[in-house]
Amino acid sequence: MSKSIQAIRGMNDILPADIKSWQLVERVFQQLMDNYGYEEIRMPLLEMTSLFKRSIGEVTDIVEKEMYTFDDRNGDSLTLRPEGTASCVRAAMQNGLLHNQVQKLWYAGPMFRHERPQKGRYRQFHQLGVEVFGIASPDIDAELILMTARFWKLLEIQDKVELEINSLGSNQARAAYRDILVDYFKGHEDKLDEDSKRRLTSNPLRILDSKNPDMREIVEAAPKLAEHLDQESEQHFKELCLILDEHGIKYRINPCLVRGLDYYNRTVFEWVTDHLGAQGTVCAGGRYDGLVKQLGGRDTVAVGFAMGIERLISLLDGDFLANSVQLPDAYFIMLSPEAQIHGRRLAESLRDELPALRLHVHAGGGSLKSQMKRADKSQAKLALILGEDEMASSQITIKQLRTGAEQVTIKQSELLAWLQNYANQTNS
Ligand code: ATP
Ligand code: MG
Repeated sequence: MSKSIQAIRGMNDILPADIKSWQLVERVFQQLMDNYGYEEIRMPLLEMTSLFKRSIGEVTDIVEKEMYTFDDRNGDSLTLRPEGTASCVRAAMQNGLLHNQVQKLWYAGPMFRHERPQKGRYRQFHQLGVEVFGIASPDIDAELILMTARFWKLLEIQDKVELEINSLGSNQARAAYRDILVDYFKGHEDKLDEDSKRRLTSNPLRILDSKNPDMREIVEAAPKLAEHLDQESEQHFKELCLILDEHGIKYRINPCLVRGLDYYNRTVFEWVTDHLGAQGTVCAGGRYDGLVKQLGGRDTVAVGFAMGIERLISLLDGDFLANSVQLPDAYFIMLSPEAQIHGRRLAESLRDELPALRLHVHAGGGSLKSQMKRADKSQAKLALILGEDEMASSQITIKQLRTGAEQVTIKQSELLAWLQNYANQTNS
C-alpha cells in the first residue's frame, strides 16, 4: 500500500471538534469591529515578493528566512503573505482608498511563515488585524488599544494578558539613537550572539528584540530610545498614556519593545501573556506613518495591529467556550418510510416558521434505538419522534433528552406552538 499523503508540516487542519472556538473568536471580533465602525477588507493570499521586501524590510527575520517565495509560470516572484499590513496598504493605495480619506479597516485570514513549528507557532497561522489610515493623533492609537482590551473582556481572557507600550520616535530620532546603540553594542561585542553580531551593521535596533536569554543583561543595560525621542513623539506618547490612564487601562512601558518589522515609528504596543511559554505575544501593533509613502503612495499616516488567532484560542477558558456553544434544539426521528416523507415536510415547515431553529433531521433509516443514539450524540435538547402510532393519529412524541421531564405526545398541528413556548421558557 502506498503511504498516504500528509499535510505540510506546520499547516494544520481545523477540525469540527475545534471549530467552535474559531467561530466564536471570529464572530465576536466581527461584531466588535462593526460596533466601532471598522470595515472589513479581504486581500489575496499571494502578492509580489517585492511588496514584502520593501515594506517589512530586507533585514528582518520574516524577509530573510521565513517567507514562502516561488516563481510562478510567468517567472514573477510571488510570496504567500507573511502578514497583512503590507497587503492592506497595497490594496488601499491601488483602489484609491487613501485620497484624503480616513479608513478604518479590519481583516482576518491565514498568514504564512517558514518557522520552526511548535505550540503557538505554525507555518500557516491566522490573524485578525486592523489598519487605520489618515489619523495622526494619539486618540486613534488609544482607540485601538481600548478596542483590544474590550475584545479580551468579551472573550473573558482579560486577566491573562498584559499591555506593553513604547515609542520608537521619528525616523530622524531613531537614526540618531541607532548610532548611539551601535557604539554601545560595539563596546560589548564579545557578549553578542551570532544573530546580534550580524544585526549590528544591518539592523541594530532588532538586537533589543532578541529572544536569547543570554542577551538579556546586555540588552537591558543598553541606552534607551525613550531618552533620545524627538519632542513631538514624546508629546504623542504622553497623550497616549494619558488617555489609557483615563480609561483605567493598565500598561507597562517597555523600553526594549521595538517590534520585528521595519516600518514602525512612534507608538508600538504588544499584549503579552505568560500562559503560552515562549510564544508570549498575542497581539502586536503600532504606528507606521512612513509606509504608504515608502511604497509609492502619498504621505499617509497609519496605525494598526494584528493578533494570532491560534494563541488567542489557547487562552480561552473551557467553561467559557462550553457556555458559548449553541447546541441543537431538536433531533427528528422517523420510524417508517411514510413517516420519513411526512416528517421531512413537517421539518421544512418548522424551518419556515422558526428560522432560528436548530433541527437535525435523521437520515439513513434504522431502528428507534439507533436513531435515539444519534439524537443523543447530536447533543440536541429534544427528540421529535414520528412512529406508526403517531402517524395514524396525526400526533408527534417529544422527548426531553437533557432533563428528566416526562415525554409528551401532542397533535402535530400544535408542534409549532409547543416549540415556540419551549424556546421562550428555556431562553428566559
Ligand atoms: P513572535 O515574536 O512571536 O515571532 P512576531 O513579532 O513575529 O511574533 P507579528 O508579525 O507581529 O509577530 O504578528 C502578530 C501576531 O501574530 C503575533 O503576536 C502572534 O500572535 C501571531 N503570530 C506571528 N507569527 C506566528 C506564527 N508563526 N504562528 C502563530 N502565530 C503567529
Ligand atoms: Mg516572528
